[in-house]
Amino acid sequence: MKSLHKPVPPGGTIGIIGGGQLGRMLALAAARLGLKTCIFNDAPDAPAFQVASQAIAAPYDDLDQLGRFGDQCDVVTFEFENLPAHAIAHLAQHVPVRPGAHALATTQDRLTEKSFVEKLGLKTAPFFEVSSGSQARAGFAKLNGKGILKTRRFGYDGKGQVKVAGADEAEKAFASFNGAPAILEGFVDFSYEASVVAARGADGAFAAFDPPENEHENHILRRSTVPSRLNAAQVKQAKAIARSIADALDYVGVFAVELFVGKNGDLLVNEIAPRVHNSGHWTIEACQCSQFEQHIRAVAGWPLGDPARHADALMENIIGAEADAWEALAKTGALHLYGKAEARPGRKMGHLTRLKPLTKP
Ligand code: AMP
Repeated sequence: MKSLHKPVPPGGTIGIIGGGQLGRMLALAAARLGLKTCIFNDAPDAPAFQVASQAIAAPYDDLDQLGRFGDQCDVVTFEFENLPAHAIAHLAQHVPVRPGAHALATTQDRLTEKSFVEKLGLKTAPFFEVSSGSQARAGFAKLNGKGILKTRRFGYDGKGQVKVAGADEAEKAFASFNGAPAILEGFVDFSYEASVVAARGADGAFAAFDPPENEHENHILRRSTVPSRLNAAQVKQAKAIARSIADALDYVGVFAVELFVGKNGDLLVNEIAPRVHNSGHWTIEACQCSQFEQHIRAVAGWPLGDPARHADALMENIIGAEADAWEALAKTGALHLYGKAEARPGRKMGHLTRLKPLTKP
């Protein structure tokens, strides 16, 4: 078993589970630091394979291939956090895994995650465990008329979520999940959404990027804007929330905390993503050290980089057929295309970042 008492030196190999755009941008950042990457993805046409030093295509629960992958890497990290727990445990016998199994287990399950956040004394939407139709009804009765039923695991971009406005609807929504355990949340009438993307190093150092304001369309992030409407005290509070989460999880790497900003200015934790995050893509152009470089630095045991923002930024996702206009888009900002062959509706094909002079430090 390899240990990681020293940083991974230039020339070493970072293993990345998941070969989508996040893995791709992580591999590009690693290359800039003189590090190699080996990507593990369950399909052979992964965007990250195009830019990595090595690639393995195998199912995420293929323990033999995971072991072989681990043996080739100095440390393994994730762009895709839904690896089954037994696969993570197996991998950890071959190679150090950052962030670790505990952080992943806590954040993979919405109920475990929200209970953990609540125990830290942080605010969330009201939530109730739902493992039966009667629990769906009982939970709904405690809400003030509106809720969202979500599967506890494997949800992303609004998948596995149903808005409910009555006990019957809550029960029906649970039935539509075919027995998958769920969580019922009170619907938050928020003013807007924001997020904090931050990093914790192997030595416990902490660095947070400025929180962007995020707008969604059809459950998919449309744009992130920095600075957000958060005032200085709220920015400080948002970063403190991220720090308390990272310290409690003994976290190593970059993560995001998605926040609802209440009409009264309260910050409610919606979700923790134990990985680099779409709302942090603007850091590539607007910060000295991007979220991708920061993650590689953290998991490799390097000193964290400076997250200071030197420009205001607007990041917009390029979704589905919007990528056909790449030539026009290339004239208007920093264009990132992810190398995906097919532009399916709702598929993130790239993003565009526009910078403006720094207004609010
Ligand atoms: P999630 O998958 O939990 O990040 O939810 C996706 C999006 O659904 C969020 O970014 C919100 O726009 C919306 N949403 C999720 N949970 C709630 C809630 N409890 N109240 C209001 N809106 C929510």
